[in-house]
Amino acid sequence: MSASRHPALSATDPELASFVAAEEVLQSQTLRLIPSENYVSAAVLEASGTVLQNKYSEGYPGRRYYEGQQNVDRVEALAIERAKGLFGVDHANVQPYSGSPANLAVYLAFAKPGDTVMGMALPMGGHLTHGWGVSATGSWFRGVQYGVQADTGLIDYDAVRDLALAERPKLIFCGGTALPRTIDFAAFASIAEEAGSVLVADVAHIAGLIAGGAHPSPAGHVDVISTTTHKTLRGPRGAMLMCREEHAKAIDKAVFPGLQGGPHNQTTAGIAVALHEAAQPSFTAYAHAVVANAKALAAALLERGFDLVSGGTDNHLILIDLTGKDVPGKVAAKALDRAGIVVNYNTVPFDPRKPFDPSGVRIGTPSLTSRGLGVAHMPQVADWISRAVDAAAKGDEPALAAVRTEVADLMAAFPAPGLPLA
Ligand SMILES: *Cc1c(COP(=O)(O)O)cnc(C)c1O
Repeated sequence: MSASRHPALSATDPELASFVAAEEVLQSQTLRLIPSENYVSAAVLEASGTVLQNKYSEGYPGRRYYEGQQNVDRVEALAIERAKGLFGVDHANVQPYSGSPANLAVYLAFAKPGDTVMGMALPMGGHLTHGWGVSATGSWFRGVQYGVQADTGLIDYDAVRDLALAERPKLIFCGGTALPRTIDFAAFASIAEEAGSVLVADVAHIAGLIAGGAHPSPAGHVDVISTTTHKTLRGPRGAMLMCREEHAKAIDKAVFPGLQGGPHNQTTAGIAVALHEAAQPSFTAYAHAVVANAKALAAALLERGFDLVSGGTDNHLILIDLTGKDVPGKVAAKALDRAGIVVNYNTVPFDPRKPFDPSGVRIGTPSLTSRGLGVAHMPQVADWISRAVDAAAKGDEPALAAVRTEVADLMAAFPAPGLPLA
């Protein structure tokens, strides 16, 4: 398969080509439930692998430090215009290498080392880069952290407000990596205004849902929108920072020359294509289908006795709390992997276990929806998860192998975008 798909690579480096071919098979045959992953289209794959790779372009369109930018300028300007149109913002910077450096650029733009910054705690569903201790953002800045309520699993906005008014942070981050519920951007905006803080919505996970109208938009509520481009937005690995005109200069300066050198032009091209795809009516349908599938999957898991953080989901993501089962998250995740169902283990709020061996499993529906699975398939998916977790508890390897075969059979009928039939 790979020789015809990547002929030059196979001829030059057959060993590496064989790894790529194996990954294509893996992505084709498994049920990929990691909520931060997706399948990019063949068009995005092509755009991300072009000769734009060969070009240095420090600076911004029309203001570069290198010559020969006739085409690269057009690529980047197109990506910027599409981002502004899709998200309804004044300004977009499409150069951050990924979500973490994008967030670091926000710190650089608005805070000084030692300043107080506020975000959701990592074990509560926040991201490392929102001021968590092991991250540069938590050691160079003074991170204060909010969480969710123990009984509901929901953000307590009164507690967020109290903390913000007590600490007066330079920056407040809202958004996270394991939040199954809608973020109230207006509530955060009024808190940030009262506290005199710059408000950042990190929508890395939900950018595609926002673009498709399946989650409220932070545009108009927040100072800066930070997002990756490779999660629900279904683009290449990269990131964008978007803001009001008043912050445009500070953001651009922070990304380049503040933090980065030359932008990855091949990625910018892939982002432009993904933004074009995300502006189509079919993507609106996709975003809504992602949420409908997640709700159906959550309901089917609840029926099978699983405990879900916050009791369900409003978006693409479900956090399964295995505290009440005899299987910890890591054991369950590894068993699911052997069953052809790819997830990640995750802390749950107030987790009694350690972060490297937590009680939760995080799943989501962006990838399976990209392959065309619908709500009618979700009871089957829940059934496989349930059987695999039971098999993990009993050490029943044949049961995991049986699920793996059934999964591969179904997935063969739903070819993945960008991939050959395996
Ligand atoms: C994924 C994610 C990031 C980081 O993105 P990388 O590209 O992995 O650096 C930042 N913030 C949030 C909320 C995320 O979910």
